[in-house]
Amino acid sequence: MITSIKQAAFRNFKKSETKRHELNYLFWECTTRCNLNCLHCGSDCKKDSTHPDMPLNDFLSALDSIPSPPKHFTVAISGGEPLLRNDLELCGREIRKRGMRWGIVSNGHLYNQERHISLLNAGMGSLTISLDGMEGSHNWLRNAKNSFEKVDYAIGLAAGSKRLNFDVVTCVNKKNIHQLPQIRAYLVSKGVKAWRLFTIIPIGRAKNIPDLILSGPEFKNLMDFIVQKREENTLDIKFSCEGYVGDYESKVRDTPFFCRAGINIGSILIDGSISACPNIDRSFTQGNIYNNNFYQTWQTKFEPFRNRSWTKKGMCADCKNYRDCQGNGFHNWHGEKNEVLVCHKSKLESAKV
Ligand code: SF4
Ligand code: SF4
Repeated sequence: MITSIKQAAFRNFKKSETKRHELNYLFWECTTRCNLNCLHCGSDCKKDSTHPDMPLNDFLSALDSIPSPPKHFTVAISGGEPLLRNDLELCGREIRKRGMRWGIVSNGHLYNQERHISLLNAGMGSLTISLDGMEGSHNWLRNAKNSFEKVDYAIGLAAGSKRLNFDVVTCVNKKNIHQLPQIRAYLVSKGVKAWRLFTIIPIGRAKNIPDLILSGPEFKNLMDFIVQKREENTLDIKFSCEGYVGDYESKVRDTPFFCRAGINIGSILIDGSISACPNIDRSFTQGNIYNNNFYQTWQTKFEPFRNRSWTKKGMCADCKNYRDCQGNGFHNWHGEKNEVLVCHKSKLESAKV
């Protein structure tokens, strides 16, 4: 009874958030250049990207179309690898001048003492670094022999800063699922305070690598691990926003599943496309900063994000959890979009039989 009252309240909250659709988190795909060639990269970034980096002024013009951004408005600078941009600090300063927060998502390879200080001085408030296992499994996924060594150094620097809102993200797969306790102990020893775990969806390069995709029982083990470690309270560990997890809802994150893509989260992609999270199918692009006013596009478009009834098809059509899940995370719809790519709840149910 209490659960259903809470569920109903949360559904109402989602409805009002959707109606309001306040933009408060904006990804900027500032470059598609990357110094790595990770096995699971969904963006197919290459060392020599065919796209030039987006000029800072082009991005700022779009940003300046937002009349009164909320106080907690954050720009998450992503790539590619944002540290490849030599003007990253300048970008950050311009964002801060507008009263907004900013942070980066990085593979950590180019993160050194000098850059750490210059980024902090430019007002960087948050940093997310990817660590995909202990040495062997991290280097395997990152497709680089010395990647662990580099990320270890970056994590040490970032964890030592009191000013930085720092978290580590891990892509959980068949090669590292057995190492989770070890990775956790390692992160605690480095002084890391927050750890976010996610799984891969079978798109891009990832779909051809079976070791990347967890089976039902493995995924259930992941959920159980998170539940158990959240109770210990040493490190803030959580499952990413990626999907609805049935009975594990409220046990693996601070709040129930709510895909905020196009509701509070927007993006400006390398070619100027306006969308939501960068891992969303590019066919959902809502406009382009080179042709459209960014904020007007945010306010007037985004219908498929704010009315998800179109996802009621395939296995979602008759699902009894549809009201809480609404077709899972938006990034789970690709290509023909006739069927959700991953149903986390079914995956968990398959582990029971
Ligand atoms: S079938 Fe669709 S709506 Fe139901 S839990 Fe799975 S992804 Fe969500
Ligand atoms: S699209 Fe995916 S990554 Fe983005 S908010 Fe939704 S679930 Fe999270």
